[in-house]
Amino acid sequence: MTNTSTITITKRITIKTESDAVQYLTSVGEAAVLSSLSDGRLTIERSCHRCGGSGIYSSYHGTCFACGGVRPTWTECPTVIAYARRHRKNATARANREAKSMAVHAAKRAEGQAWLEANGLGAAVAAIDSETRTGAEQMLLGLASSCHQFGSLTEKQLAFARSLVVEIADRKAADADKINAPTGRLEITGEVISRKFSENAYGLTDRITVLVETEAGHWILNCTTPAALTGTCVKRGDTVRLTATITPSDTDPSFAFGKRPAKASVVTTTTEAD
Ligand SMILES: [Zn+2]
Repeated sequence: MTNTSTITITKRITIKTESDAVQYLTSVGEAAVLSSLSDGRLTIERSCHRCGGSGIYSSYHGTCFACGGVRPTWTECPTVIAYARRHRKNATARANREAKSMAVHAAKRAEGQAWLEANGLGAAVAAIDSETRTGAEQMLLGLASSCHQFGSLTEKQLAFARSLVVEIADRKAADADKINAPTGRLEITGEVISRKFSENAYGLTDRITVLVETEAGHWILNCTTPAALTGTCVKRGDTVRLTATITPSDTDPSFAFGKRPAKASVVTTTTEAD
């Protein structure tokens, strides 16, 4: 624990004399209070911790029940030695509480990590590169973090985590097979992997994303759904043929955008409910 050294050092200082107390208070950033030091005593303005010295807790609750509205502010004149000792006692107690909570946190994290390993999720979580993580990887990291916090996952969370691991592996296998998309006006045939409808300032948009398999590997085309298909229920899993002017994306050469899609038709359709 990083806090242990601080506590040990603090405990080692003996506050016996006024000069010890001044040295201690200065070392912990409480030098300002020393401006009232006179004849070994400080003058400290106090106010009720609950009402802040107003005597009224809230307009609903009325009179503060910590101070009863009596003496909500007052002046204390402790000796500087007593003040410094009390300060150190409180600081030590606070540091101990924090160290304890950190230890509890670390133990829970270790328990959660062991649980992830025992359930076959450790390697998949460790393999995630946080710089380039995908949506599925992000969700798996979220579950891992939950597990580190609570020590385990629920049955449902575990089932979901396992489905994410499969999805991530599938995606990695698919990525390994990527090739650069072609450029120009071409006819393509491929499987629809998504169809998205969205609304913006220009009206409704309807776009499809198509996975184009070739002998060398695959690439992905995203274009507005061709006019011939817009009124149909063409969906994920269907195979379509279309002609479009294809331009690979600047950031991913295996992903291209298609313009002016035409001559579109559905080659095969799937009945798989999605
Ligand atoms: Zn009060």
